Amino acid sequence: MRRVHLVNPSTQSFGVAVITPRWLYVLAAATGRRWGDPCIVDETLERLDLETIDAGDVVGIGIHTGNAFRGYEIGQAARKRGAWVVFGGIHATLFPDEATAHGAAHAVVRGDGDVIWPRVVEDCLTGRPERVYEGGRVSADEFVAARWDLLPERRYMWASVQTVRGCPKHCSFCSVWRTDGQQPRQRRVDPLMREIVELRRRGFRFIALADDNFYPVTFADLAQARRRSDPARLRELEALRDDRFELMARLASLPDDMVFYTQITMEAAEDPAFLVAMQRAKILGALVGVESVTQEGLKDVYKGFNLAGDDLVARLRAFRQHGIHVLGSFIFGLNSDTKDTFDSTVALAEQADLTFAQFVLLTPFPGTIDFEKWAAEERVRGTTVDGVPLTQHWLIPEDRRPRLYAPHPTMSLEEIRLGTQRAWDRFYSWRQVWRRSRVVKSLRARIAFMLVSKLYRQMYANTGIATDSARVARSARWARWIGHGCRRLFVGKPMPDLGVPGEDLEPAVN
Ligand code: SF4
Repeated sequence: MRRVHLVNPSTQSFGVAVITPRWLYVLAAATGRRWGDPCIVDETLERLDLETIDAGDVVGIGIHTGNAFRGYEIGQAARKRGAWVVFGGIHATLFPDEATAHGAAHAVVRGDGDVIWPRVVEDCLTGRPERVYEGGRVSADEFVAARWDLLPERRYMWASVQTVRGCPKHCSFCSVWRTDGQQPRQRRVDPLMREIVELRRRGFRFIALADDNFYPVTFADLAQARRRSDPARLRELEALRDDRFELMARLASLPDDMVFYTQITMEAAEDPAFLVAMQRAKILGALVGVESVTQEGLKDVYKGFNLAGDDLVARLRAFRQHGIHVLGSFIFGLNSDTKDTFDSTVALAEQADLTFAQFVLLTPFPGTIDFEKWAAEERVRGTTVDGVPLTQHWLIPEDRRPRLYAPHPTMSLEEIRLGTQRAWDRFYSWRQVWRRSRVVKSLRARIAFMLVSKLYRQMYANTGIATDSARVARSARWARWIGHGCRRLFVGKPMPDLGVPGEDLEPAVN
């Protein structure tokens, strides 16, 4: 019988992974049962075994810019085996023709796959796929609950659910607001709770709320609607906000051993009631895009709604004062950055009591304002690597790909790369990690905290910034080894009889 395969491409496989790639299990649910259970391959765990693909099968490959190259390799190999090859994901949405030319795609799905995917599968299996399918932006009521029954055993530390798609902001380095839209699409609370309870029944204590922005309505948005005397808009915003509070109240009644983690703008710190509700809901971790510690840097990335200096420290500390641990995300390589930026950023991260931090190099990702500006200048420069224009940097083999793309007014590219590496080394030195481990009580928990910090650093820093392939390979081996131990710290005993708070429900349904 012909099968459906869903593949998450990756050049690095660690045997275990931190967060479940949600899209695989959502599309598995969307596939339906007619064609049997899809075969799911997450290459962050293990490489795809091509022998499992037969002629006539459907191979769905989801790509973002970072894994497009590997995705295209898989597409070509699957097509050689006679399979129907379909691409989806942000990158394929932006460049459907590229997926055909480089990934041997028979079909490309643009936008959300939740609703259109079953039709794509049927068209392929009956031999009549269309070249491009427009999935569009489906409404929140159409978001599909994932098929968690297909998860492999003992591989993931965190499960993931999505509560809201879309972000009203317009940061220049981010494509989310253009691809997912600026109108937040918030999922209803009941189906969300069913999915979360199903995950706890299976033993997941830690759940990432894989949202674009968990705080989609700010005080400024509400004030603006009042100022414009726009009652309809005001009601809409208040309803979105009320829904957030309802969700958090329901999460609060879940077992105490659960922990949630989300992504949020730092504006949430303006709203103590929101932070209190987050803490009660056990949303104890949040990725906050700080990006830059200076006003000039924030202007560079169109993120004027963030604060700088002492105000920034106070705002970030407000999260910690409410028991919410912040993973601060910083960008290096902005035009306004100087040689001092690296050390002053790490110093601010420490002063603001950040529990985790990530330091990323400014990279022009397609679909962003930054990319358009950079690509226009780069086309004039006409740089190529192995004959591939730099404006298509994701098509350059990974070991040949530059780590930085734009000339900087005051620093060499190597200075920026080394400064970034130094920031990771300083923030994650054993001494600093031990100091930060005071956030947990027992010695065992402190050791666990240190292992997780080091794991995070190995998985995301060394394999992303280092140009030395031996160092990358060493990091991957280390992460693989430590990842297995860490996983046990996150999972709990399954609770098969757990009920859904606020509902008398039997086991979760999709
Ligand atoms: S970076 Fe965050 S806040 Fe800015 S547009 Fe993207 S999702 Fe929204």
